[in-house]
Amino acid sequence: MTPIPGMMMDRPLLVSALIEHAERFHGSVPVVARDHDGALFRYTYAEAARRAKRLAKALLRLGVRPGERVATMAWNGHRHFELYYGISGIGAVMHTINPRLFEDQVAYIANHAQDRLLFVDLSLLPLAEALRERLTTIHTYVALAPRAALPAGTTLPGLLSYEELLEAEDDDFAWPQFDERSACALCYTSGTTGRPRGALYSHRSTVLHTMNCCAVDGHGVSGEDCVLPAVQMYHGNAWGIPYSATAAGAKLVLAGRQLDGETLFRLLEEERVTFSLGVPTVWLDLLAYTAPRGLRLTTLRRVVSGGSAVPQSLVEAFRREHGVRMIQAWGMTEMNPLGATAALRHKHLGAPEAERDAVNQAQGRPPFLVDMRIVGPEGEILPHDGRAVGELHVRGPWVISGYFDDPAATAAAITADGWLATGDVCSIDPDGYLRIVDRAKDMIKSGGEWISSIALENAAAAHPDVAEAAAVAVPHPRWGERPILLVVARDGRAVDVASLLEFLGARVARWWLPDKVLVVSELPRTATGKVSKATLRDRYRDHRLPGR
Ligand code: AMP
Repeated sequence: MTPIPGMMMDRPLLVSALIEHAERFHGSVPVVARDHDGALFRYTYAEAARRAKRLAKALLRLGVRPGERVATMAWNGHRHFELYYGISGIGAVMHTINPRLFEDQVAYIANHAQDRLLFVDLSLLPLAEALRERLTTIHTYVALAPRAALPAGTTLPGLLSYEELLEAEDDDFAWPQFDERSACALCYTSGTTGRPRGALYSHRSTVLHTMNCCAVDGHGVSGEDCVLPAVQMYHGNAWGIPYSATAAGAKLVLAGRQLDGETLFRLLEEERVTFSLGVPTVWLDLLAYTAPRGLRLTTLRRVVSGGSAVPQSLVEAFRREHGVRMIQAWGMTEMNPLGATAALRHKHLGAPEAERDAVNQAQGRPPFLVDMRIVGPEGEILPHDGRAVGELHVRGPWVISGYFDDPAATAAAITADGWLATGDVCSIDPDGYLRIVDRAKDMIKSGGEWISSIALENAAAAHPDVAEAAAVAVPHPRWGERPILLVVARDGRAVDVASLLEFLGARVARWWLPDKVLVVSELPRTATGKVSKATLRDRYRDHRLPGR
């Protein structure tokens, strides 16, 4: 006997189905977004859907073809939201660029992705202008604004206005149907080699991931919620919220660029937000604003904190001071990005608060369809006993099968038997909770964003007085980690720290600059002669950084 085909409709899982559903079944639900003038723009899913259709028609008129990459360089806003659907909906690929990267990296990823068009926020026009000469594949620039708001004398050739493009179209448009395995979005993440690598999501992976985000043990996004992603739409698709909020019909608040404690507090209260997501730094900033003023969040029910390890004190403070449940999540750009949440089990029912809080000491447990294993140094599969520690491997329908157009990075990350090696070192307990204890990848995570140690070291080693450099992460109370740089001077030379910092400032983003530079006589080595990062991390774990 061979299996027989099921008799169910073969409707492809396309992201356009999410906005179409929103338009038809919860069209009146509000979407609120910070506009470029700082004011809050208000409309509904139905209006957003109609504008996404106009955008789709404008893209087709501009000659965009299926599979072509269309870049965005924008903060969280309603036009960016429409781009999520307008671009992917016609089978093109939305490439969200992180504008906080160093210019060289932005140019690298736009060229590597072979982006054809760039949609850019007004506030980021200067960056696009500075990069223009180095962007070799982009032929059309579009400012996310009405024509009247465009600055005179821009150096971007033929700069178009987004609003003008939409005004020229109507919304009489049916979303095309195509293979759900087609790519819908592209997001680059910093690589250990210092070169960013692209995760190319498919419609199928995104829709399946969205269903998980709407599941209770995922993000639990529902129609009862008002959701504010306190994470940018270029960082792992704002953890999927532009899709899951749309699918569920949750009120959506897009906070623009500013996510400081005061702005966040006001938006959470004024828009009656029930659910929010972000990295621990955002939550620490929020508490630093509310605690001294005795302010209490009145509508927020739960927050997901992830991207970096979540301090237990943060979980406790949110419960004690605000009655808000904080849930730790773990994920990766390579996973669309949600990989695990510290969801409670039935056995925790009625357990004391402290015990329920403590579940968040784990990064979380995988949802169904995400498979995990831990692997020892010889490739041996380790038991899920909560004690054995090894590198975490993952696989599943929303895990990358390779990096976009990067065979070397793919070969380094995907195992021969088809798992993604995450570079996270952890244990898994019998209940499936994973706990990260170390990181095999040589990277530094500051405020939820990567700093590549190797890129920093290469930049430092290019200085004429530097023989060798090593960048290591040092724990930091606000940023999670910050880099310190150890340098060995070239024979007969002395390293002047101020001049080295100035030198680095011309080569890396400002927020990558090390918090401290230490000139040392030599670096510790492993048995094979490599610089021992583990020794350095241990040695400087308790190092006090300036301003700490
Ligand atoms: P990104 O691709 O920027 O989202 O980074 C993914 C990586 O961030 C993971 O492989 C982990 O190293 C780290 N990470 C994400 N979430 C957590 C967490 N909850 N705790 C510790 N590290 C995390």
